[in-house]
Amino acid sequence: MDSRLAALFAIWRKAFLPLGRIDDPLSVFAGHAGHLLVIDPEGERHRYSHYGQAFARAFGTDLTGQIIDLVPTEILPVDRRGILDFEYTFARSAKRPLWRAHTGQFADDKTQTWQRLVLPLGQDRLAVGAYPAQLVPERQEEKLLRLVIERMPVVLDDDLRIQDLALSLAAFCDTQQQMAELEVLASSDSLTGVANQRHFLHLAGLELDHALRMERAFSLLALDIDHFKRINDGYGHATGDAALKAFVAACKTALREYDILGRLGGEEFGVALPNTGVEGAMVIAERLRQHVQDIRLPLPKGEALAFTVSVGVCAFQLGGGQKDVDIPSMMEKADAALYRSKSQGRNRVTLAE
Ligand code: GH3
Ligand code: MG
Ligand code: MG
Repeated sequence: MDSRLAALFAIWRKAFLPLGRIDDPLSVFAGHAGHLLVIDPEGERHRYSHYGQAFARAFGTDLTGQIIDLVPTEILPVDRRGILDFEYTFARSAKRPLWRAHTGQFADDKTQTWQRLVLPLGQDRLAVGAYPAQLVPERQEEKLLRLVIERMPVVLDDDLRIQDLALSLAAFCDTQQQMAELEVLASSDSLTGVANQRHFLHLAGLELDHALRMERAFSLLALDIDHFKRINDGYGHATGDAALKAFVAACKTALREYDILGRLGGEEFGVALPNTGVEGAMVIAERLRQHVQDIRLPLPKGEALAFTVSVGVCAFQLGGGQKDVDIPSMMEKADAALYRSKSQGRNRVTLAE
């Protein structure tokens, strides 16, 4: 961690944690931080006010207390919004500062690492700071100085006035190459690395929206490993975990690059299949079932463990007369089909009615 950040963090801990509340962190942080934003929720939007004397010193522009933008929610791409939501919700509900490194690609293909701080101020208010891990390039060397405020590039003009704040956000998000540590934390299952339930449902929802808008097909699979409890009971929890990892690896070989695999809980998984109607979904589900059946997980005593999976398929096809289609209702149908697979003997694929 940048030593300046470590020092700031120490100040924060000393000053605020024993109190169990935050009095006026702005007065502490504004003097240190490159910049701090205070976010006040305002209906659908957020009001961003700027603080930070260090910013004024470094750049000769004092924006303290100024409202610098009202960012409409639609500017931030929907698949990126979850990360911010996660950060904000975490900081608000845990009433703890959130401290993250974030690496992104900026103008001229330069990769920079920033430290981000999200600080709860009470009553849903947050302060958000971003600090470059390396020094910001010299003014003279760059026509435009780009900073991240709230993961958004701020383009200052030659007079160091903010020229472009929100509009370049989409471009920034598109060129972002490395996922933040937080992004991974917030969205993936720690054992298998696939999307966790929340993230899976979110991504599946995006794909369904897209399918509806573009008049494309879309399918969902519900998967449940058969007699998984027997694996745990017979060989131990660690072998159960290894089986879950082997299962995920087998699923990946059966899926296409753009299919979305998620762990919904325990030994239950979901797959979202963009651009895929009934026939395609059945082919993929059957291939997946076969790949799982072929797994041979080596066991300590030299034997190999084999297991199977049951699958339920729910396909959405345009003109299929489905109304009010959404992910929860599709998931419900896929689940019902999955349980028919179970009751008919397991290790099979069933299409929802
Ligand atoms: P069925 O064929 O009807 O699905 O039987 P099952 O034994 O697979 O179903 P059940 O829901 O009874 O058991 C699921 C088991 O999965 C119980 C639980 O202990 C185990 N499990 C859940 N999460 C994990 C995990 O992360 N690791 C391991 N090793 N086991 C897990
Ligand atoms: Mg189960
Ligand atoms: Mg099971």
